[in-house]
Amino acid sequence: MDLRLYDTLTREKRPFQPLDPKNVRMYVCGPTVYDFAHIGNARPVVVFDVLFRLLRHIYGAEHVTYARNITDIDDKINARAAEEYPNLPLNEAIRLVTEKTECQFHEDVAALGCLPPTVEPRATEHIAEMKTLIERLIATGHAYVAEGHVLFSVPSMKDYGQLSKRPLDDMIAGARVEVAPYKRDPMDFVLWKPSKPGEPAWPSPAGINTAGRPGWHIECSAMSWKHLGETFDIHGGGIDLVFPHHENEVAQSRCAFHTPVMANYWMHNGFLQVEGAKMSKSEGNFFTIHDLLKDWPGEVLRFNMLRTHYRQPIDWTLQGLTECMKTLDRWYLADAPLPGDGGEGRYLDQEFVSALADDLNTPMALARLHSMYAEIRGPASGLAQIELKRKLKTTAQFVGLMCVDAKDWLTRAHGAPTADETKKIEALIDARNAARKAKNFKEADRIRDELKATGIELEDKKDGTTLWKVKR
Ligand SMILES: [Zn+2]
Repeated sequence: MDLRLYDTLTREKRPFQPLDPKNVRMYVCGPTVYDFAHIGNARPVVVFDVLFRLLRHIYGAEHVTYARNITDIDDKINARAAEEYPNLPLNEAIRLVTEKTECQFHEDVAALGCLPPTVEPRATEHIAEMKTLIERLIATGHAYVAEGHVLFSVPSMKDYGQLSKRPLDDMIAGARVEVAPYKRDPMDFVLWKPSKPGEPAWPSPAGINTAGRPGWHIECSAMSWKHLGETFDIHGGGIDLVFPHHENEVAQSRCAFHTPVMANYWMHNGFLQVEGAKMSKSEGNFFTIHDLLKDWPGEVLRFNMLRTHYRQPIDWTLQGLTECMKTLDRWYLADAPLPGDGGEGRYLDQEFVSALADDLNTPMALARLHSMYAEIRGPASGLAQIELKRKLKTTAQFVGLMCVDAKDWLTRAHGAPTADETKKIEALIDARNAARKAKNFKEADRIRDELKATGIELEDKKDGTTLWKVKR
C-alpha cells in the first residue's frame, strides 16, 4: 500500500515511511475542556480518525499508537469554573468543569463515529515530564528564569520558525502586542509561570520558590515524549495551531532532545466556516456538535465533514447536510447483510482505499462509493446485486459510514416513531403484504396510500420484505 501524506514542514506530499512499522505513532492536539466542542473542533477529530483507521488497516491495529491529549489546565477553564461554581474552591470547580466537559466530548465524538485514540493523556497528569523538559532546556541555554517565569529563548534556536515559515517581522510584530518586561526577546514564550492565588499550582522547576503552572505549548512536548518518544511519525491538528503552538512544540522538543525533527510528518486540517461566514457566537451561526446531533444523525455530520478534502477550507451548510442525509438514506435502502463469516475484508474496494492513501482524498473516496451505488442501481441482478451491496456497505464502514442497522437508520434517522406507532405501521405493512399475496392490489395500494398520508414511505425489497421510513 503506497501511502502518501502532505507534510506542512516540507510543503510537499511524499511517501509515508514510519520510523518503525511495528509501532506507527501519531499525536494530535486534543480539546481544551471547558465547554461543548463546536463543529470546527470536530474536524481534526474526524480527519485524524480516518487516518488512524487507514494506518491500522495498513500496519495492523496493534501496530499503531494514536495519542490525543486533553488540555485540562487553561485560563479559559479557570474562568469558566469560577463563573459556573462561584461558591466552590477554584480547584474543586475546575475538576467539575473539566470532568463534565471531557465526558461530553467523548459522547460527541463517539456519536460522530470516531474510534477512541490509543492513549488520551491529560496535561495535569504530566507535570513531572514538563518540569524535566524545562530543566533540560535551562541547562542547555535554551530557556531562562525571570520573575518566577521560565521562558524559552527563541534566539537560542538557530532555525526557529521552519514549520510556519512566517516572516520574522510578522512574528515579532505579533509577539510585541503585549511584551512582558521580563522577556529578553519579544518572541520568547512561556514554559512555566507563577499561579495566581486560588489557581491550580505545582512546585516550580529550576529552584523557583513560588508555586506555578505550565504554559500551554510545553504540555504537548511532554505528552508526545512520554507516549510516543523523542521523535515520532505524524503530528496533527488544525491549521490554526501551526503558529505559535506547533512551532513552539518543535522548538521545545528539538532543543530538549537535540533531534533534527520532532515529527516526520506535520498534518493540518483547514478552517471551517458556516454558510460562507466565519463561525461566531455573536453572528448566531455557532454550532456545537451536541446541538447538531439533536437534528442530524452523527453519520450525516461525519459524511458532510469528509466531502471536503481535509486541507481545504470547509463550508458547513444546511444544504450539504441535507444532501448527505439523502445519500445515506439511499445507501441504507440498498443495505444487504454481510455474510458474517469473518472474511468481510474481501468486499473492501481497493480503489477507495487507494484514494484515501493519496493524502486522505476523501472526496475521491466518497465519489467511489457513489459510483458503487450507481452500479447497484444498474442491470446487475440476483447474486451480483447482493455482492455489490456488500461491497458498498463494507467500504463505507471503512470510514465509519453505514455502521448502524439499516432498519434502525431508516426509522431513527427520520425522527423515531414511538413503539406503538411502529407496531401500527408494521401491522399495516403485514396487511398490505397479505393483500398483495391474495392479488388484491387495490387494497394493497390503499394501505400504501394510507401510510403515505401519514408520512411513511415503503420500499418493497426483492426478497419479499418491505422497508419503511418516515419522510421528512
Ligand atoms: Zn498541542
